Amino acid sequence: MKFRPVRNFIGGEFVESSVEHAELRSPLDGSLLTSVPLSTAAEVDAAVMAAAKAFPDWSGRTIKERAQVAYRYRELLLQNIDELALLIHKEHGKTPDEGRAEIVRAIEVTEFACSLPQLIAGEVLEVSRGIECRVDHIPVGVVASIVPFNFPMMVPHWTIPIAMTLGNTFLFKPSEKVPLSARRTAELLAEAGLPAGVFNVVHGTRSAVEAICDHPEIKAVTFVGSTEVAKSVYVRSATRLKRVLALGGAKNHLIVLPDAAVEQTASNVVASMAGCAGQRCMAAASMLAVGQVEPIIEQVCAVARGLVPGETLGPVISAEAKTRIEGFIAEAEQAGAVVLVDGRNTVVPGREGGFYIGATVIDKVRPDMKIAQEEVFGPVLSIIRTKDVEEAIAIENASPYGNAAAVYTQNGGLARSIVERTSAGMVGVNVGVPVPVEPFGFGGWNDSRFGVGDITGKSSIGFWTQSRKTTTRWH
Ligand code: NAD
Repeated sequence: MKFRPVRNFIGGEFVESSVEHAELRSPLDGSLLTSVPLSTAAEVDAAVMAAAKAFPDWSGRTIKERAQVAYRYRELLLQNIDELALLIHKEHGKTPDEGRAEIVRAIEVTEFACSLPQLIAGEVLEVSRGIECRVDHIPVGVVASIVPFNFPMMVPHWTIPIAMTLGNTFLFKPSEKVPLSARRTAELLAEAGLPAGVFNVVHGTRSAVEAICDHPEIKAVTFVGSTEVAKSVYVRSATRLKRVLALGGAKNHLIVLPDAAVEQTASNVVASMAGCAGQRCMAAASMLAVGQVEPIIEQVCAVARGLVPGETLGPVISAEAKTRIEGFIAEAEQAGAVVLVDGRNTVVPGREGGFYIGATVIDKVRPDMKIAQEEVFGPVLSIIRTKDVEEAIAIENASPYGNAAAVYTQNGGLARSIVERTSAGMVGVNVGVPVPVEPFGFGGWNDSRFGVGDITGKSSIGFWTQSRKTTTRWH
């Protein structure tokens, strides 16, 4: 198959990169998809210079004017949603419906950005007789966002529309595993009227990321990805005196009580575990089965068996990811867990080269097993049996992560007390993917988030701006 290498987008132009390129294979069938430049510090510098050049004009416009770009961009996302969903399907492998769902989330954040003029307006007070104090929210300058592979459109849009509407100019480092949708993002932003240089894209991996952390002209960095890299980006950027927010990995526990509604709970747990092939930081990893919940477990297995790889269940991102996930399953089995539904050795006819794993349910997992402790990031549910709620909460609390948790029950008082004792930033009651939709902010606790505040919602305003307090006396 003939393919074109991906290009960086700097100062309003797509530019060929002469540096080394990495080949990228389609998760759907293993065919060669494209190649991605492993950009160097020099290319990061060129993008930063373009963003710095665009900053005075962009930040000098009124926020209402900047928000007009967000309005037009939202319309373009809507108009192009089918094409974008197919692009995400092609590069990431998730189903077109899952692709659409993440664009809907990108649109919701863009709508939040459209409301920013209203949100940041109006802090002025006569603090003493004849003396007035007012607060203005001033953009910080050139900012950067580094993202993971699992949501090619949604995660970038946690930051792009908000940071830019607030007046910053932007350097975007997509995941090298899903580089294609960044091109359409750049094109649609330009079509929406964004001036050249306000949004720049530099592809690559570690060296590009390190150059971003080190660049003195970049004032703020957000990172979303695995915990190990989140920690290193946090430390490296903070050492260079930048503001930084780094979201890391996850290991989410769903506490299922015997009184939970059987069918709804089972479908919801499986949707959480297997949606986007389990490659979500909000995915169910472990189901803490409290007491006698056999009917729910049987139904979970039935729903999991009903998912069809290649149709209702996409592949995982790479051959390496497939091997790693299957390794977790084998290791758990050897350690005494019981594989109730086995997604290993899945082959989709006509797509033999694709990286498919069927939905997998493993019972009798113990908290000390590797599969119970580490992030699997695949369509695999571990069931850990607990004798009571106390034991379940203790297991959830012992995890170093703290992105999401959920409880399934019909007892409101008990649900509330469990929610209050979980150690996670986003908690669901009978909701397995408890993503807080705008205006609520997205962010976990513990090893799932380094830095202060959420990446979306109102707290993002504080991250992307600095406040100027002006005290005025008129004679
Ligand atoms: P990753 O950490 O491998 O990569 C994330 C980004 O960091 C990519 O842009 C990549 O190019 C770059 N990178 C990779 N290795 C690096 C290194 N050694 N030094 C510097 N940069 C490096 O993550 P991934 O595999 O793309 O994504 C999956 C992870 O992201 C999972 O752990 C998942 O839980 C996490 N995630 C978290 C959230 C959240 O909100 N907390 C959301 C989505 C995904």
